[in-house]
Amino acid sequence: RAKATLSERICFYEVAMDEAARDRRKMASDLWSAIDRNELHLHYQVQKSVSTGEITGYEVLLRWEHPTRGNVPPADFISVAEECGAIVPIGEWVLREACKEAAGWAEKHKIAVNLSPVQIGHQDIAHLVHSVLFETGLEPWRLELEITESSIIVDKDRALLTLRQVKNLGVSIAIDDFGTGYSSLETLRSFPFDKIKLDRSFMNEVETSEQAKAIIRAILALGQSLSIPVLAEGVETDVQLGILLDEGCDEAQGYLLGRPMPMRSRKIAA
Ligand code: C2E
Ligand code: MG
Ligand code: MG
Ligand code: MG
Repeated sequence: RAKATLSERICFYEVAMDEAARDRRKMASDLWSAIDRNELHLHYQVQKSVSTGEITGYEVLLRWEHPTRGNVPPADFISVAEECGAIVPIGEWVLREACKEAAGWAEKHKIAVNLSPVQIGHQDIAHLVHSVLFETGLEPWRLELEITESSIIVDKDRALLTLRQVKNLGVSIAIDDFGTGYSSLETLRSFPFDKIKLDRSFMNEVETSEQAKAIIRAILALGQSLSIPVLAEGVETDVQLGILLDEGCDEAQGYLLGRPMPMRSRKIAA
């Protein structure tokens, strides 16, 4: 059988590219109406103290139930939402909804809300946080915002000013996915973060790789010397949790401790 000619292959590639682009455009337009159609939901994933097992908070994770696509994972739609700008109203919805829900909980746990760099670039976050706390009555100490290094890289002055304003409201700031960016140490130096979230990739290898363990140990030492607690993400096994306990890690989050789920089902399960 004859192989496809180069031009046939290029043509196929272009069609595939075209379809991918069209799919993203369709997804983008669906995202703009997702809030009004009640397609967005919040899941919560527990965070615990490694040494005592006590609950220290819950991370808020966005879920999109699309009428035909089904559950679309954040990995597939957050970047689309960032590209088209829909992350601004969506992020605002997440913040408001999470604060509203948490304000009604019997136990006053902290919540950690993810913030996109695009949100920081496009709206007055401090003003938004201030109004949402006022509207919902959530105590500021119960809110933590998780930002990644990319937030600071885009427009450093604006990002740092925003973070300072938010901190002045009594809200805490965590640096998410720490250790994967290209200038992690510079980022730590530029802002007094309240928590370091060690990226999940380190957990993957900690059981088998002495190097991974050494890096975790170094980051924990760094956290300790800067007086910033460290939370390990993606903890899936007892062995991993044991290592974190030995190494003096403060907090952990992962499937071993609890899967992300709606707060309602958690209460029924408990
Ligand atoms: P992230 O902020 O680092 O959130 C942690 C991710 O790790 C979540 O994925 C969570 O379900 C997953 N995870 C937790 N424990 C484990 C584990 O033990 N093993 C494994 N393999 N994974 C675990 P999820 O919910 O799919 O979210 C992915 C990313 O999407 C988040 O990463 C965050 O960057 C973004 N995201 C989610 N919700 C929001 C949101 O409301 N706003 C913004 N801007 N981004 C969000
Ligand atoms: Mg996060
Ligand atoms: Mg993370
Ligand atoms: Mg991550």
